[in-house]
Amino acid sequence: MQVSPPGHSPALVWFREDLRIDDHPALAAAAVAGPVYAVFILEEGPDLGRPLGGASRWWLHHSLTSLSQSLAQHGINLILKRGDPRTIIPDLARELDVAQVHWNRRYYAWSVPVDRDIKDKLRTAGLGVYSHKAQVLTEPWEVKTGSGGAFKVFTPFFRAATPLCDAFADAAGPMPTLNGGRVPAQIGETLADWALLPSKPDWSGGLQASWQPGEAGARARLDGFLAKGLKGYGHDRNLPAKPATSGLSAHLHFGEISIRRVWQAARAAMAANSALEEDGRVFLSELCWREFSFQLIYHYPDFPEHSWKEAFRSFPWTSDPSAVRAWQRGQTGYPIVDAGMRQLWKTGWMHNRVRMIVASFLVKHLLQDWRVGEAWFWDTLVDADVANNAAGWQWVAGCGADAAPYFRIFNPMAQGEKFDADGAYVRTWVPELARLPDRYIHRPFECPTHVLAQAGVRLGQTYPLPIVNHEKGRKRALDAFASLKETASGDPA
Ligand SMILES: Cc1cc2nc3c(=O)[nH]c(=O)nc-3n(C[C@H](O)[C@H](O)[C@H](O)COP(=O)(O)OP(=O)(O)OC[C@H]3O[C@@H](n4cnc5c(N)ncnc54)[C@H](O)[C@@H]3O)c2cc1C
Repeated sequence: MQVSPPGHSPALVWFREDLRIDDHPALAAAAVAGPVYAVFILEEGPDLGRPLGGASRWWLHHSLTSLSQSLAQHGINLILKRGDPRTIIPDLARELDVAQVHWNRRYYAWSVPVDRDIKDKLRTAGLGVYSHKAQVLTEPWEVKTGSGGAFKVFTPFFRAATPLCDAFADAAGPMPTLNGGRVPAQIGETLADWALLPSKPDWSGGLQASWQPGEAGARARLDGFLAKGLKGYGHDRNLPAKPATSGLSAHLHFGEISIRRVWQAARAAMAANSALEEDGRVFLSELCWREFSFQLIYHYPDFPEHSWKEAFRSFPWTSDPSAVRAWQRGQTGYPIVDAGMRQLWKTGWMHNRVRMIVASFLVKHLLQDWRVGEAWFWDTLVDADVANNAAGWQWVAGCGADAAPYFRIFNPMAQGEKFDADGAYVRTWVPELARLPDRYIHRPFECPTHVLAQAGVRLGQTYPLPIVNHEKGRKRALDAFASLKETASGDPA
């Protein structure tokens, strides 16, 4: 953490994807400097990143409510502003007469120049301006290959990143006392002004029932996850019917808990019980996939929008809106795909194994551009994240860094039978199939008519027939892939 100059200088903290008080380097440094002012900006503008999806807007509303309550307990009034931070931050700093401005760094192609621009303006005005590391354990320029470049393969990245993650985790300091600066009345907007919550219709009931946005909810998730123990995580994390993963992704995306606290807690659990070493390492590696995604978007700024492998930029995707609609609604006729898409629609989240299956089905069986799926996830996931979402989709599509080869095509029936053997996940999310025997739960279209009748399933009526034949879809995808002219290295460098 950068240390602010000593003294009693009022300081403004710009909250972004770090909606917490605990382990907040920008807030801590501002508190050391003097009375604290806090602002969150709903960034809007053509060059200010992608507008938030619906599920993210819902989460943000509740997360900001929680943050402003927590800050108020320390006498700090969270100011809400909407618009372009390049004008809002310098204007606000002047209006509040602060001596310093602090924020935690972000790494998006659009946000880096915005931050630089604001820094220049503030410095020209004679203010101290400090950015801090918090969103990641390793900044994109910190983990380097032997020749000084960025890693393109995960395993050596993980090996090189781990000691740096440990060192950053060990360096966490105590939180200083917070004192709020006096905010003039009428300075900001209200959350209601932003209308982040859905109203016509209000589809958020499932989200409400599934999540507790905010710092307390994040801490409860981490504690609950670790109380169950990391034991078995390595295996069980692939079973969608078993709540074996942390459920922390949205909390981490919005920064309601620091990635450092999660790393520290997992490390402490592993240190206290050597039997957790192996499973704990798998969990740490998942946290490092997130680090890897951030370094990809930093070093390859067009990664979120374009296939990382040059050759895929001319991939012969097709466009089939009705198939995409069936996929979005969980009506493909493949139970594991439909279960995942319905879990997503209802709760704003989908299990990682199932994300891979539904993504593979869209880009391979349906031959749709990965960006079509990425956009749907962006709108519907509560953890929608520029880095992780693009990395996940490009991994599945085969066009990303260290991706699954395109020709490895998930068989949705086999995936279901392997990871949801008794069909418990499908039965939860596709209740119209609940009474099918295990043997047919992942392949109802092969089920004898009398068994379907006994289970109350009428294919084509109560549940759709497959929108694409598995073998035909597979062959079409492989043919499309064969038509690609692979570049020598396949990577964009
Ligand atoms: C097509 C596709 C799209 C995805 N889109 C997103 C997204 O928009 N936002 C998002 O946070 N994750 C995304 N992921 C990654 C992963 O599915 C989720 O992070 C994970 O399911 C979240 O559940 P959890 O918190 O219980 O994970 P846990 O297993 O408990 O993992 C702990 C944390 O590690 C990180 N993590 C875990 N797996 C991955 C991964 N494969 N890549 C990067 N980070 C990971 C997350 O921050 C997660 O919260 C995507 C994966 C795929 C295949």
